[in-house]
Amino acid sequence: MKKHFAVAIDGPSGAGKSTLAKRAAQRFGFVYVDTGAIYRTVGLFVFQEGIDPGDKEAVKECLSKIKLQLCYDERGQRMILNGEDVSERIREPQISMYASAVSAHGCVRDFLLDMQRKLAEDYDVVMDGRDIGTVVLPNASLKVFLTATSEDRARRRYEQLCEKGIGCTFEETLRDLKQRDENDSRRSLAPLKAADDAIVLDTTGDTESESFDKLEKLILERLKK
Ligand code: C5P
Repeated sequence: MKKHFAVAIDGPSGAGKSTLAKRAAQRFGFVYVDTGAIYRTVGLFVFQEGIDPGDKEAVKECLSKIKLQLCYDERGQRMILNGEDVSERIREPQISMYASAVSAHGCVRDFLLDMQRKLAEDYDVVMDGRDIGTVVLPNASLKVFLTATSEDRARRRYEQLCEKGIGCTFEETLRDLKQRDENDSRRSLAPLKAADDAIVLDTTGDTESESFDKLEKLILERLKK
């Protein structure tokens, strides 16, 4: 079986992962997989069920009621939860916090692992998340850890939320982002950290094009090998 090419992009919220990963997927004809959206969909279900996202047992029990599907159309990756397209709803700031809380449970990470690995078995992918290089795709062709200062990341996230018409202030965005960084880095399971063999790209102060040029160069080098 041909081994597919896989680019793993990890890093904290707002480092520019999804924007750059999407562009790279388009440029090279790979499938873009946004794993944060998958965790967000589980977070949304837990929210809708009125479950405390910190209650491991309750979260574990509700997983059997979740049917997750990931599909693609001209808008990109869509998340289907029990037959309903929830791709917009999962972007609400409240759901970010639910996603972060449920993602700390091993049962949730196990539940989603095969789905993510299967995509990389079937397609050439650019997959972004928190643990792609460390856990999901330890043999990825290229691992990149994207980072930037929290203020820079909050500014980008704030601009994205404003564009989508989701009301919030910059201060709230910065506070939520720091809280999620803390949750994601401190959890014992699959914490946010660069894989030993990842290339760290700091995008602070970069324009999107500058960051993309750096990523494109890394992918081209790796494709030649
Ligand atoms: O990337 P995004 O901000 O959409 O991810 C939402 C949340 O999902 C993150 O804060 C993180 O807690 C969780 N996540 C994760 N592992 C991944 C992707 C996302 O734990 N691979």
